[in-house]
Amino acid sequence: MNKDVFVDELNKIGVEISKEQIVMLDKYYKMLIEWNKKTNLTAITEEKQVYLKHFYDSLTLSLVYDFNKNISVCDVGTGAGFPGLVLKIVFPGIKLILVDSNNKKIQFLTAVVNQLGLDRVEIEHFRIEEYGKKEREKFDVVTCRAVARLNIISELCIPLLKVNGVFIAMKGNIGEEVKEIAGSLKLLTSEIEEIKKFELPIEESARSLVKIKKIEKTDQKYPRVYEKIKRNPL
Ligand code: SAM
Repeated sequence: MNKDVFVDELNKIGVEISKEQIVMLDKYYKMLIEWNKKTNLTAITEEKQVYLKHFYDSLTLSLVYDFNKNISVCDVGTGAGFPGLVLKIVFPGIKLILVDSNNKKIQFLTAVVNQLGLDRVEIEHFRIEEYGKKEREKFDVVTCRAVARLNIISELCIPLLKVNGVFIAMKGNIGEEVKEIAGSLKLLTSEIEEIKKFELPIEESARSLVKIKKIEKTDQKYPRVYEKIKRNPL
């Protein structure tokens, strides 16, 4: 996806992007490629592919939520900053918290945030389940792309949300995954608000955004230790 198509396709989904924001994304892209030579950040390196599969894909979150607000967004398992850092560049009014357990990725994210001069960004070197014990009921939105199956990430992410906050899981073809979480959402006092299915432009691969709303405070016993979550998902 070249940059003109990137801007056009974003306009089609209601996202306006300025020249300054494109310059910031360019800097981010260059740093990603530079750091990727010594640290494993992404398998996608070709510029047009990064614009499509990382930058555009991250911004499809706008299909189910309006980020033009002063809200807190926590992106868990953010890796090299997808979708969180892209959201922050295009929607600078949000307060962003990036969580990842990999120290190399934390160093990269810190360098990008400093280089771009982004404010109201916190970078947390944590496992999500540990972070969820510490920072409960705190965020308006929690996002998560490519970390684990829905029944696992729901237990990790929902405790972080304020009541009435939303967890948006970014998935490919979800198939059975949504059926698997019916019981767990009851225990996590949350419900599916929307499932948005669409295709990425150009390559037409399937995408799904699963938007889950938290109805009541989460029981203190969640999240359980990670081994239990993995061995015996809710
Ligand atoms: N969200 C990014 C994306 O879509 O490009 C990164 C996806 S990468 C496949 C998964 C990331 O989740 C890695 O950076 C890994 O370190 C992080 N991760 C996996 N399990 C985690 C956990 N329990 N706590 C914190 N980070 C975790």
